[in-house]
Amino acid sequence: MADKFDVIVIGAGPGGYVAAIRAAQLGLKTACVEKWVGKDGTVVNGGTCLNVGCIPSKALLEASHKFVEAKHDFADLGIEAGDVTMDVKKMMARKDRIVKNLTGGIAGLFKANGVTSIAGTGKVIASKQVEVTDKDGKATTYDADNIVIAAGSVPVEIPPAPLTEDIIVDSTGALKFQEAPKRLGVIGAGVIGLELGSVWSRLGSDVTVLEAMDSFLPIVDSAIAKETQKLLKKQGLDIKLGARVTGSEVKGKEVVVKYTDSDGDQEMTFDKLIVCVGRRPYTQGVVADGVGVGLDERGFIHVDDQCRTSVPGIYAIGDCVRGQMLAHKASEEGIMVADIIAGHKAEMNYDAIPCVIYTFPEVAWVGMTEQDAKAKGIEVKTGSFPFAASGRAMANNATEGQAKIIADAETDRILGVHIVGQHAGEMIAQGVIALEFGSSAEDLALTCYAHPTMSEAVHEAALAVEGHAIHMANRKKRK
Ligand code: FAD
Ligand code: AMP
Repeated sequence: MADKFDVIVIGAGPGGYVAAIRAAQLGLKTACVEKWVGKDGTVVNGGTCLNVGCIPSKALLEASHKFVEAKHDFADLGIEAGDVTMDVKKMMARKDRIVKNLTGGIAGLFKANGVTSIAGTGKVIASKQVEVTDKDGKATTYDADNIVIAAGSVPVEIPPAPLTEDIIVDSTGALKFQEAPKRLGVIGAGVIGLELGSVWSRLGSDVTVLEAMDSFLPIVDSAIAKETQKLLKKQGLDIKLGARVTGSEVKGKEVVVKYTDSDGDQEMTFDKLIVCVGRRPYTQGVVADGVGVGLDERGFIHVDDQCRTSVPGIYAIGDCVRGQMLAHKASEEGIMVADIIAGHKAEMNYDAIPCVIYTFPEVAWVGMTEQDAKAKGIEVKTGSFPFAASGRAMANNATEGQAKIIADAETDRILGVHIVGQHAGEMIAQGVIALEFGSSAEDLALTCYAHPTMSEAVHEAALAVEGHAIHMANRKKRK
């Protein structure tokens, strides 16, 4: 007779493993089921984020950025580095070590918190029952008072560019190239396409990004998106907008890609092609027919604001439900549902989830863009400050970019914070806190920032909302 649990979590990505740890911390008897197995046959926790997402991509972004700095920027600082070369295999081995450390660490965290780790594929077969099939096909049924589905997502595939063994690949394939391809095509100028395109461009690939939409990063504030596009172009990324891929043909060791743009049918040849056209929820087979857990029209598990499905006691979180596909969004939902299951009151502020693109410079934002606010009929006032006027940015050799604050014209409440600049992903936390606390632009303007820091640009942007920036000439008239 298999164990009975208070909570069974299906999936050990950043949604699932966090939910399981929190539930166990709150005294609930908890198990976490994961189907990912390593080459040695043992369970691999961490999901997309730790294995083939956030962490490995950031390891490659950091290494490739340091390479570019050493090759091109060090001389300006007086450092003669000589002939700088990159050993791609070593870079990949370091990335693999980091992934192994982190995924292995989760087993330790489960043990420390008393979470039972179950290897196998989980399926909800009744409102309080999960069947787990192990790698040898043996099925075991577990009872649970509560079930949390955290099955995540997988890359979208498109008929014009079907994946091949090693020429047309998805993001997972692009994290394991053993050398920089000479000509690299990327389909999709979204977050993942721009990050992976940047990695290989820095390491010497000629990168062309084909994006079907006419606008660049429409989810980003338009002033920040415009500046980002200019900076990435300067770095050598050829981003073709309004270019919809319609077909591809692998010929020997290269791939001919067909696309249409405003001039008609076009063709380009690449050595590798990365398909980065988004991700879709991975929900197939996770819940048996008849249990009653509904999906929405796009295949996401239907949940309310507190991640309850249509069946009492069954919750779903992370990439397999509505909202942004981000690791920290999945984790926060994991904490929220564990708290709810333990009988606590819990909710999430979906308006204060930060997003970061880890290009150089980084792009980070939280809350509304100026265009969002205007579309909602909100009258806004804005303040911006360029890093070109920041002493710390000059010292850091990182003067590109700007910080921008959007505030309600009437109440001064901060509606959005948007940054393109070095360390924008770290700086955005102050925007998140400002939104969480309902701060006004004046609150930030009256806050004392350490000098010299990149964050002073956010302070100056807050001052600029009323035309009171100190270290630049204000466009607005001072009152
Ligand atoms: P996942 O991480 O996908 O985990 C789901 C887990 O469930 C998997 O381990 C899967 O094997 C398991 N599973 C599925 N079905 C079953 C089943 N039936 N039984 C047992 N186990 C099952 N997000 C960020 O916030 N920041 C970033 O910088 C970032 N970079 C990214 C870079 C790339 C290249 C990619 C691809 C993604 C990136 N993301 C980033 C997105 C982030 O990885 C996801 O949003 C996050 O992993 C979602 O977490 P999750 O727990 O919902 O799902
Ligand atoms: P994201 O969902 O942020 O990862 O971005 C994926 C991008 O891929 C979107 O901007 C889409 O417009 C783009 N895209 C999807 N299909 C195609 C296609 N056939 N050709 C070019 N771009 C595409």
